[in-house]
Amino acid sequence: MSETTPNALPRAPWQARVLTLYPEMFPGPLGFALAGRALNEGLWSLEAFDIRRFARDRHGSVDDAPFGGGPGMVMRADVVADAIDTLRLPAPAPLVYLSARGRMLTQARARELAAGPGVTLICGRFEGVDQRVIEAREVEEISIGDYVLSGGEIAALALLDACVRLLPGVIGRAESLTEESHEAGLLEYPHYTRPQTFEGRAVPEVLLSGNHERIRLWRRTEAERTTRERRADLWSNYAATRASRA
Ligand code: SAH
Repeated sequence: MSETTPNALPRAPWQARVLTLYPEMFPGPLGFALAGRALNEGLWSLEAFDIRRFARDRHGSVDDAPFGGGPGMVMRADVVADAIDTLRLPAPAPLVYLSARGRMLTQARARELAAGPGVTLICGRFEGVDQRVIEAREVEEISIGDYVLSGGEIAALALLDACVRLLPGVIGRAESLTEESHEAGLLEYPHYTRPQTFEGRAVPEVLLSGNHERIRLWRRTEAERTTRERRADLWSNYAATRASRA
């Protein structure tokens, strides 16, 4: 099912490096299904490293109490900087800290990351990472949503999953990517398969018509309606770009 053209140059595998206090959480769910198959086929690679290796004392401590007081602990700048300096992928691969304070991950950013050589990810724990290392190493902060996780690992897995499925050869049919939610700035239309009647509910008649143009229009209308009803933010962007194109 590979989409690679016969004369395409072989592409270096997309590289992911993860700096974490829990390296055994990787590849975790990314060892299964699409991402797992692509990992086994060498379309991408994943290495997880333990930040604790860079602890400066014999107790292996990586965190300390926050200056200014308050609850929780903070990951030390010196420890995280050593981990970054030893382990990060060479530029231009971006260096990303998964952070509830980051810019929201978008399909567009996932596409950019997937188009590059790979990514180095830093997973926080406790209250997060000392701000100075984020600034000193020019780390990009990315959030996966407006809620707080207990660590960056699940966010890293989510980001990697979003990127890996976009790599050439990972998903057989390129169209199944371009039609998806967020690709055209819309949520996707609803899907139906057999049985044709389920608990008295029929499949929308147009989908059985065989009329490809009517089906395309119906799907577009459904995508627009769903986006308008559920996501005012996406809808206003979409409506604005549509207006500027008209
Ligand atoms: N005190 C922080 C939250 C710390 S949660 C704050 O209020 O912003 C511990 C770690 O989980 C963070 O360092 C970060 O790596 C990760 N994390 C939590 N929520 C996240 C989110 N929405 N997106 C990405 N990473 C997140």
